[in-house]
Amino acid sequence: MNFVQGLKCLFCETVYPVRVGYTCPRCGITGILDVQYDYAGVGRILTRHRLAARRDQSHWRYRELLPVGSNAALPALSVGGTPLTSTPALARHLGIAKLFLKDDGRNATGSLKDRASSVGVVKAREKRRPIIACASTGNAASSCAGMAASMGLESVIFVPERAPEPKVTQLLIFGATVLRVRGTYEDAFQLCQRSCEKWGWYNRNSGINPYLVEGKKTAGLEIGEQLAWEPTDWVAVSVGDGCTVAAVWKGFRELKTLGLMARTPRILGVQAEGAAPVTAAFLSGEPMRPMEPATLADSIAVGVPRNWKRAVLAVRESGGTMINVSDGEILEAMRYTGRLSGIFAEPAAATAVAGLYRAVAEGRVGRRASAVALITGNGLKDVQSARTAAGQPYDIAPDGGALEEILRERKLI
Ligand SMILES: *Cc1c(COP(=O)(O)O)cnc(C)c1O
Repeated sequence: MNFVQGLKCLFCETVYPVRVGYTCPRCGITGILDVQYDYAGVGRILTRHRLAARRDQSHWRYRELLPVGSNAALPALSVGGTPLTSTPALARHLGIAKLFLKDDGRNATGSLKDRASSVGVVKAREKRRPIIACASTGNAASSCAGMAASMGLESVIFVPERAPEPKVTQLLIFGATVLRVRGTYEDAFQLCQRSCEKWGWYNRNSGINPYLVEGKKTAGLEIGEQLAWEPTDWVAVSVGDGCTVAAVWKGFRELKTLGLMARTPRILGVQAEGAAPVTAAFLSGEPMRPMEPATLADSIAVGVPRNWKRAVLAVRESGGTMINVSDGEILEAMRYTGRLSGIFAEPAAATAVAGLYRAVAEGRVGRRASAVALITGNGLKDVQSARTAAGQPYDIAPDGGALEEILRERKLI
């Protein structure tokens, strides 16, 4: 069964039947659509009790809240069900009472984007499109290619010049046609857009495709369920395009609508200083003004975020706020997160932790607060940045000559 009722434009608020195109026919490309559900119908099925009895640990366990039919063929790769780990040492370092890391770097292709791509390939198959295309700074790309491979679809991927090598390598291994665009993410996005229109490929761009946010919201649904329906005070999410933060909020809001959770957490949206048009729009209350992105956190280096409005509305509705952090703070967060939790976050993922650190230091998040930081991507995705953060090993001779000195320096002996 499918509980989708229609698609509502976030700008003019017109509701369309599901057969409409990717964005609002009236508002054009800025008219992002939001999937609407029959929550009364979903609520009759998705009870706490029924959910607890479900064996499926993947994100398809919330299929009544996903825009896929009950008979739809699903990719074989497992997505979701990622661990929510309590990290007391990291909580102490940040100066808050309790902290959990939701490690979405553990998804099939190493990032939260798998939640979206898995829905994307199901929709492509449903619409009988053999080719799926995507423009991405890296993770959406490798995820799209991996999920396409799992479903037997072809993928065409546009990446900006600066996409990290490990992500590009993943694409090539998954058999994608990889087009490295000499330009920014925005250039890649535009070229992908035109190509999809010209050749009729299914467009997996979370900037415009309304179904991808639905996949990503399962991160919020899982956090709610993993916390036994008692949410933390805050959930920190890094923001590039804005789709992820809005999606996570949608998940929490749905849990409340369905009566599964009595209250919702506040959302802390975190951007990198060098690519922060969403924070600017949030703070000023004015429309988003594009900027030239400059941050080492490649996954959130988005100068023209398409989901900025959805993100601003989400953070505001949650009673939360937005904050920016520098690249230096991001690198430091990669280091202390790894050292104090054993979780290896890529720069854009560590951004969420860095944002929490700063928010606590500035008194915006209280010292008695509990929080979840969403680790959106695995650190192995961008080894070069990680090495900038991590430094070098000690090179020693086989006779171990310098060993004692080093151990003493590290206070190990
Ligand atoms: C895509 C991504 C984000 C941000 O998601 P948006 O939807 O672009 O805001 C954050 N971290 C990682 C690792 C990502 O891949």
